[in-house]
Amino acid sequence: MPENREDDQQLIDRFGGHGINRDNAAHFRGRLERRLLMSRCGDCGRWQHPSRPMCPDCWSWNMTPEEVSGRGTIHLLMELHQGPPAEGVDYRDGHPVVTVELEEQPALRFTSTVTADFPDDDLEIGAPVELEWIDRDGTPMPVFRTRSA
Ligand SMILES: [Zn+2]
Repeated sequence: MPENREDDQQLIDRFGGHGINRDNAAHFRGRLERRLLMSRCGDCGRWQHPSRPMCPDCWSWNMTPEEVSGRGTIHLLMELHQGPPAEGVDYRDGHPVVTVELEEQPALRFTSTVTADFPDDDLEIGAPVELEWIDRDGTPMPVFRTRSA
């Protein structure tokens, strides 16, 4: 992917709070296109998130961004009762945060929240979920919705 300073600055402006760097820029660039990209080793096929320049399994530097399915199961579940103000977030009843283990690979996980209409009864560890995109402050944000197993 060609380096482009103007493009990089736009990325930093949109995702400033996330700490954009050379390793994760492709991931955040993908979010602008509503694609969840994660680093994958071109030599052994291992996925890696957060992105690193080198494969932790085979030490290859041949890491490239690829799109994941967004399907997985809830691995970790938290409820935040305080936090920074964010559009559409109400901490009074507990704002759910989920870490989802993606079906691509054991321990490949992504943390976000769930859709506003996620059924309370489905919000539990092990529950099957899939990716959905919402807009927060005008920027696409990957979240999870319930799915039938
Ligand atoms: Zn590898």
